[in-house]
Parts: sequence; structure tokens; C-alpha cells
Amino acid sequence: MKLQLIIFGFMGIPCLIFAQTATNKNLPIIDMHMHSYPVEYMGGSNIPNPVTGRPSRAASDEELMLATLSEMRRYNIVKAVISGPLDVVYRWKSEEPKSLIGGVYFDEATSFPDVEQLRRQFMSGRLGVLGELVAQHVGLPLTDSLFVPYLALAEELDIPVGVHTGVGPAGTPYTCCPKFRVSYGNPILLEEVLIRHPKLRLYMMHGGWPYLEETKAIMSVYPQVYADLATINWIIPREEFHEYLRDLIRAGLGKRLMFGSDQMVWPEAIGMAIEGIESATFLSKEAKRDIFYNNAVRFLRLKDTGE
Ligand SMILES: [Zn+2]
Repeated sequence: MKLQLIIFGFMGIPCLIFAQTATNKNLPIIDMHMHSYPVEYMGGSNIPNPVTGRPSRAASDEELMLATLSEMRRYNIVKAVISGPLDVVYRWKSEEPKSLIGGVYFDEATSFPDVEQLRRQFMSGRLGVLGELVAQHVGLPLTDSLFVPYLALAEELDIPVGVHTGVGPAGTPYTCCPKFRVSYGNPILLEEVLIRHPKLRLYMMHGGWPYLEETKAIMSVYPQVYADLATINWIIPREEFHEYLRDLIRAGLGKRLMFGSDQMVWPEAIGMAIEGIESATFLSKEAKRDIFYNNAVRFLRLKDTGE
């Protein structure tokens, strides 16, 4: 999710400040949703964290990368999907090739990459995920013909696809993205894509929130679809996130929910996102391990190295 200048009061509701914890320090975590943005991409390092109100502690692109990698080590994040402008993705990937999975970010600020070039990058392993796809921000449903060659490529090469679902920050159509529409974030719109590309390994980013019924419907009919819990695990009011998560677990989807932070320019967001899961008292230890690690290992078809 790309936040712009109007990030305070994400849903018009003030958020609490949560202490960072590292209770899972020795157990591995996979973060399915991070960004390698240049600091300026979000409007500079002065942009306050929407929850804490504090500006990013990273003043340069290099500082942001190093601070993010440092948080990954702190919380034992052994793999993370990063997306952003491709040159920045490659810079981060060269710094930490083993634990970073390069993603392809599509939004109105980035031009659509050449399909054959992408094919080469996927085949070389420099890129490993098609996403974050934010068709919603450019006023398109993912069913638009513009995305067909990319989705066909991902299906052909068996590359995981991460799709932004749900909403955006308050005022999004009035600021960054005049073509943004809430309705295009509805997970129900993924159905035609799943019909057209039945072998796609697709995950819904942001867990489809707040479209609970549609998320349950899509995930129950299409068992190949997974979801990450990024952003909603630290930005929206905690009670709302826990209620939503509890409903997804009750619906029997606990084996397909994955941890994500949506770290943008605030490295501390990683710890805040982890705490959002850790503080869910209704989750068993096993359910937390599934979300933090096991489900992503299965989805990404990694070997469980127990790192
Ligand atoms: Zn997003």
C-alpha cells in the first residue's frame, strides 16, 4: 500500500501506540509484503508513521535499506518479499540476495515493465513475485486486458502473484490517485482472473479487509488462494483487526493466512505488525507459527530450513 500525505487517522480513528516486542526472536518469520521504496517515494523521511506520528528514522535510501535489514535480523525474518521501483529492488536484492525475494510493483508512479524483460528476471531468480499489483490505484480492475500478459507469464512460469485488495488511506482519490476506486479493491473481482488463469499462485494482500464475506467466499471456492495480513495488523484499530482475523480463522482459513508488514519507510512497522499477530490471544501457538512461517513456506514452496 502506498500511503501519501494524509496518513494520520487512517480510517478516521486514532490508533494506539504499541510497544515493539520480539517474542518470536528465535523462530523464523517470513514477511510476504515489504517495500523497497526510495525515501522520497513516500514524500520524504519527514512523513510520520501513521500510528506513532514519528517521522521515519531513515533519512536516505541507504539508511532505509540498512534499517529495514536490521529489523529483519532482529525479528529473525528469514525471507521477505520486497517490491518498489525495480532499480531499488535490485539494489536491496544485491545487498541481501539470500533472504530477499524481488517483487514487481505496479502503480501509476511506475511504468509497466516489458514482459520479455520480466521473463528474464524471473528466470534468473532476480525477481520472484509478480506484485504488489495495485490495479485499484490506477482505476482498473485486475481483469483489465492490460494485466493479461503479466498474469499469463506468472502462470506460465509458476511465479506467485500478490494483489493489493481492500482499501487505501483516507482521501486516496483526492490526493495521489484520482482514478482509485474502493470498489476495485473488492476480492470478488479476482474471480474472473482465477477462472482465466486457473494455475495462478495468487495471494490477496491486506487480507481483503474490510471485505470479510467476499474474502471468505473467494478463499473457500478457490483453495489455491492465500492472503497476507499486511498493514491491517498494525494500522487499523487493533480490535477491528483481531475481529477480522478471528472470523477468517473461524472460517477455516488459518492454513492460508500469511504474515506481512507492508513496511514502507518506517522500519519499526515490522515489529508493530508482528505484535499485531502476537497479541491475538485467540490464536494458538501453532496458529501463530502457521501465519508467521509455515503457510508461506508452503505457498512459496520453500524448504523448511528452520532457519
Ligand atoms: Zn497494498
